[in-house]
Amino acid sequence: MINIVIFGAPGSGKGTQSEKIVEKYGFAHISTGDVLRGEIKKGTPLGKTASEYISKGQLIPDSLMTDILASVYDGLRGTSKGCIFDGFPRTIPQAESLDSLLRERGEEVSAMIELNVPEQELVTRLVERGKTSGRADDNEETIKQRLQVYHGQTSPLIEWFDKQGKRHCIDGLGAMDRIFSDICKVIDTL
Ligand code: AMP
Repeated sequence: MINIVIFGAPGSGKGTQSEKIVEKYGFAHISTGDVLRGEIKKGTPLGKTASEYISKGQLIPDSLMTDILASVYDGLRGTSKGCIFDGFPRTIPQAESLDSLLRERGEEVSAMIELNVPEQELVTRLVERGKTSGRADDNEETIKQRLQVYHGQTSPLIEWFDKQGKRHCIDGLGAMDRIFSDICKVIDTL
């Protein structure tokens, strides 16, 4: 299977571009944020735990997140020739867990595609999205916290994937179709 990690700060366009990848390539799409928001909507115990972290802009603990990811991945595996990981991994321990999870199944991360967007643009996009998204974390205070968490806990993954020769950095600013075409160029080499 082609396993793609779509990577970037909150507001970098991971969700939007993932949808386009799904449409063109028919890959399965795992958005951990969507999974958690689904649990919150259903009012499950997991949803209750998740909402405490999400509303503060903090990350759900790694072990819990890894268990969730494994069960979603196993549910989707074999349904298509590729899978997009959107919003996971977000920490080095999560990346290590993803590696072993995939290795145990005879798979590996094929590529990490990073959407690079300047900080001010991220804030503008997230504030704008907050007007219609209904998301509890798209408000200015939580946005700041999420960006801090990104810089502190998630951005070290850039170097982590770079060292493995798997990182492809794409300019995430500008026309959506140009960004998508850059992404396709990477996928078509896999
Ligand atoms: P997202 O929709 O990807 O922006 O995720 C929204 C929120 O869900 C994040 O701010 C976290 O609180 C939580 N979340 C999503 N994915 C993860 C993850 N891989 N690890 C920890 N928390 C996550």
